[in-house]
Amino acid sequence: MILTAGAAWAALIGHDLAAHNVPLGPLGVSVTAVLLTAVHFAERFRRSQTYTFRCPTPACTVSISATNTNLDELARLQKLAISHDQHGTAATR
Ligand SMILES: [Zn+2]
Repeated sequence: MILTAGAAWAALIGHDLAAHNVPLGPLGVSVTAVLLTAVHFAERFRRSQTYTFRCPTPACTVSISATNTNLDELARLQKLAISHDQHGTAATR
């Protein structure tokens, strides 16, 4: 949705600049800047939807990240990450 809106915005700006006889170079730079801004915000939005859970055990480096996941799966992954006995050395025995 963000990319679609950004593409539409870039197209409108490109159309308006062309209608005012703006040379192709500055027109292209302007349209590209709008598109890159949309890509940047889309990526920021995607990252804001990523959750990371870390094991609270000091020597453990386990962390689990999830993106675009429903609440049930997030709860399951959080429980797995914070339960050291389920993923630590004791879990492999
Ligand atoms: Zn752990």
